[in-house]
Amino acid sequence: MARSHRYTSPAIVMRVRPFGETSQVVHLATPDHGMISALAKGAHRPGPELQGGVALASTGEAHLLRRPRSEMELLNRFRILEDLRGLRQDLERFYAACHVLSLLRAWMKPMLPNPALFGAALTALRALARAPRGSAGAWIAWFEARALAATGHRPLLEACASCGGAVEGGALFSAPAGGVVHRHCAPPGPSHRLDAASLAGLVRLYTARLPDLKREPPTPEVVRAARAVHDQFVPYVLERRPASLGPLPGRTVTRR
Ligand SMILES: [Zn+2]
Repeated sequence: MARSHRYTSPAIVMRVRPFGETSQVVHLATPDHGMISALAKGAHRPGPELQGGVALASTGEAHLLRRPRSEMELLNRFRILEDLRGLRQDLERFYAACHVLSLLRAWMKPMLPNPALFGAALTALRALARAPRGSAGAWIAWFEARALAATGHRPLLEACASCGGAVEGGALFSAPAGGVVHRHCAPPGPSHRLDAASLAGLVRLYTARLPDLKREPPTPEVVRAARAVHDQFVPYVLERRPASLGPLPGRTVTRR
């Protein structure tokens, strides 16, 4: 027989909505349990357990109770372990964080562990909370790249996705092809031209270790190229266009 089960988990608050007079329904991203819907009873009453209400984009430790015959768990306590208030102090950081959360909501599934996706979101939110002006676009592109890879959607960038041939001199990015292609291999539909330097920078965004990227951040040209590619590819993978793509910093209109 199913029993109640008490446990704690690292968590990111992906969505919050009021429930009744004093409670909240929260959607949490967790590394080992995927997406969790939980009721935070009395969250808006003062008290140490839920600190007067759980805020969007908070990260910390969730104390949960899984209940038999109920889809919604109980959130008994949310302990904030680090200060990410910086996300709310600047519009560029705020939009960037909203976009990270919107992709996380799309890709975190109930009961489906995805520590890589969780880790990428946590790293991106931490970095964005302290991001100097003008650098949010690079962090978004980095998160998109790592989230695509963590959900099995990494585009092929190292060779032509159609014929497998070398693409050292640059190529076209084509969402339906699933990566870069030669001009003569491109399927019909929109594509984006990548010169050799942008393509190499894009590959680095997908593969380089984080300390190396921090030491040598992607150039504005590479961030622009990544934005154009992900503007095509993320809606293609999701089969819809996330609303948060609109106000992203550094976004340019792709020529069709
Ligand atoms: Zn080809």
